[in-house]
Amino acid sequence: MSAATAAADQARSDAAGASRSPRMRALTLVADRRIELLEVAPPPPPGPGEAQLKIGAIGLNHIDVWGWRGMAFAKRKLPLVVGVEAAGVIAALGPGVASLRIGQRVVAYGALTCGTCRACREGRDNLCENVGGIMGFHVDGFARDRVNVPARLVVPVPDGVSLRDAACAPVAFATVVHMLFDNAKLEPGESILVQAGGSGIGTAAIKMAKAIGCTVFTTVGDDAKAAKAKALGADHVINYRSERFEGVVRKLTGKKGVDVVFEHVGPQTFNGSLLCLKKGGRLVTCGSTSGQATNVNLFQLYTQQYRIFGSFGASLRNVRESLAKMADGLTPVVDTEVSLGEFEQALARLESRQVFGKIIVAF
Ligand SMILES: [Zn+2]
Repeated sequence: MSAATAAADQARSDAAGASRSPRMRALTLVADRRIELLEVAPPPPPGPGEAQLKIGAIGLNHIDVWGWRGMAFAKRKLPLVVGVEAAGVIAALGPGVASLRIGQRVVAYGALTCGTCRACREGRDNLCENVGGIMGFHVDGFARDRVNVPARLVVPVPDGVSLRDAACAPVAFATVVHMLFDNAKLEPGESILVQAGGSGIGTAAIKMAKAIGCTVFTTVGDDAKAAKAKALGADHVINYRSERFEGVVRKLTGKKGVDVVFEHVGPQTFNGSLLCLKKGGRLVTCGSTSGQATNVNLFQLYTQQYRIFGSFGASLRNVRESLAKMADGLTPVVDTEVSLGEFEQALARLESRQVFGKIIVAF
């Protein structure tokens, strides 16, 4: 082929590319509680150490609800591309990325850690001292056709795990793995109370605790969810609207209490959760959906020798562990799969707790 023919082919291919659409879709938060599907410029070719992902599925979490309705302490600028948790396929690789290949199915860790501070070097990624923000919350996120991310934050999806399920790994599953096993150090045979067992993380916590042979107590807000939680394997399901959960847990444990409480509801349940703990028990919390502040009885805290863990996010190792669990058959409970246009309605359902399991947004 002559140089002139090659140049002409290149020109034709560029023109075809341009006519195909130089723009791509991005779900963008333009104001509090207002998300629009915009056409934006695609990312440039990935730079050194970067991977370009073609997004396939987004998992929704409460952090998306916080971002959508606005949060006083969150430093960010609008417009902002939403989507904190995603799975996709490698579309292109920048120079120097040998660990991934084009076409590979992957998830991405959405916190822009530095990779060099002591916490990062020790694998405690969620304690990074120089984190550049959480994608989809502080900086542009994953809810767009293509995005460039640091390749070191990309984790391959094992064979046999669907992209839909994998999209629940980086935030929901990894958060639960970090809470239960790194922080609360849940052991086989122990008892655990999982608050809000119908939520995305609640359903994952029930399944993970049952998988290692724990006795699981859980709370739900209606009878339909109670039946579903039971079907997941929960041993004791309490409808917190019709019964005082702390009374039921204490009665069922012979007034001893449980070894671990998995909290994320906040002020509405926090003191009741402490009352459910055995002496020396562990409470781990990653959320405060019912408000931000509560009172704690310090006398009870030290005389009962409770251990309380605050947990936020997870490590890259937890993401890999989550995907490995999925490959072993411990899959996420999916409430619904919705389209990009239904993103805001899905957030509203999540906010009103009208879900059982995860909501996935398909591309
Ligand atoms: Zn760091």
